Amino acid sequence: MVSFCIKPSFLKQAAIILLTKEQVQEKKFSFSDKQMVDLLESAVTAMQFEGARSEIFPVVVDKKVILFIGLGKAADVNLTALRVVLRRGLLSPNLRKLRSIEIVLHEDSVQIAQAAVEAVVIGTYAWKKYITRKKDDQSVDIKEYAIVTHHGQKAHQAAIVAEGVNFTRDLINDNADTVTAEALEKTVRDLVKNVKGVDLEVLGRKEMESKGLGLILAVNQGSNKKPRMVIVKYSGAGKDAPYTAFIGKGLTFDSGGLNLKPGGSMETMREDMSGAAAVIGTLKNILTLKPKKNLILAFGAAENAIDANAYKPGDVLKSYSGKTVEIGNTDAEGRLVLADVLSYVIRNYKPARIVDMATLTGACVVALGHDYAGVLGNNDDMIKNLLVSAKATDDRAWPLPMYPEYKEAIKSKIADIKNTSNVRGAAGTICGAEFLHQFVGETPWVHVDIAGTAFVDGDSHWYYGHGATGYGVRLCTHYLLNN
Ligand SMILES: [Zn+2]
Repeated sequence: MVSFCIKPSFLKQAAIILLTKEQVQEKKFSFSDKQMVDLLESAVTAMQFEGARSEIFPVVVDKKVILFIGLGKAADVNLTALRVVLRRGLLSPNLRKLRSIEIVLHEDSVQIAQAAVEAVVIGTYAWKKYITRKKDDQSVDIKEYAIVTHHGQKAHQAAIVAEGVNFTRDLINDNADTVTAEALEKTVRDLVKNVKGVDLEVLGRKEMESKGLGLILAVNQGSNKKPRMVIVKYSGAGKDAPYTAFIGKGLTFDSGGLNLKPGGSMETMREDMSGAAAVIGTLKNILTLKPKKNLILAFGAAENAIDANAYKPGDVLKSYSGKTVEIGNTDAEGRLVLADVLSYVIRNYKPARIVDMATLTGACVVALGHDYAGVLGNNDDMIKNLLVSAKATDDRAWPLPMYPEYKEAIKSKIADIKNTSNVRGAAGTICGAEFLHQFVGETPWVHVDIAGTAFVDGDSHWYYGHGATGYGVRLCTHYLLNN
């Protein structure tokens, strides 16, 4: 829980005080409490604290733990660095057993307060559902945070959005056999239950068969689980105003199909529904923030598994759009699912613009690592605005080009189009986007390839712990609120 107060009270069990190197050197502190000023001056005089980046100096006074935390030189303190350093302080062993903490910022602005909120909510998140041994539990017990800021209202909104991020992370981190397509449907049903002005459409296998959604059905046909397409329509601006659509890829597990993934590439494939999970987290935010905007949130959920019914390389399938697709590789299944969802939403809901999010290509991880998502599309204004949101939210993204030559790369000799590229090993992310492009047509559209950013392996990547990052929730929420 995060709350906000205008002045530091130093009444909690602990306080974190953030300071730049200059503030320490020049003794220009952001707080005036005499006891704290004396403590800090003593620490500086005794050469125990100089405000270097990530330097932590703990003091115990009146049974309270005070952590002075250095941010380094003011010129080097950007918002990401602030999140990283504050997270490190919050996870420090000095605070592990304490339940209430006050956070005093080095400077008070909307952006800094928001970044501090994210360090708290996103930075201290840990996936621990299946950890039974207490000593392995690295999570913090702290439950109450009070951030000192004059921008409580804006910062409160950041807290709501960050909770949506963690909601998405829970969906991604849990077992693939728990978070099935049906479970995702139930999650959405629970979110929209009793909410006015929201329409829900769910397509199961029967509806997909009768409507001819041949691609999503084929991807799922080797699985004993049921596929789903879920579409939520939120009409905050009245039904006549244009709708923005956010569409997510929801492969609840991707074995690769008969083109089986090798060991080392399959272990985290429960994350292949991160696009759908980000759409659901965005929905949660929108239902809380209630913006006067029109929105369609949709995802296709399926499992790419193998049994005797699994779809096969060389098969030609018929999509919902009517286009036939040759299967060059059963592991390029995300674009198949998305193609049917994109066509279905465009034909039946006619959105003014579409953003899709998908863990689509390993090539995007090669190109941009785990730090930036790839952004491609058919509309320069949309791409520009999405990149503005990426920068503002720290859900980082970088543009990749789309060019007409790549239409040739996905041509098939036996069908209208192929799900793999004829130019082997080249521009995999662009070819994946070009495949989707063929189903989007003229609708303004941006594709965000989140294969690298959705999930990080390691203890601390920037300010995330191990596992799902919830990438896309902040991005989509910001984009919707500002466009
Ligand atoms: Zn795949």
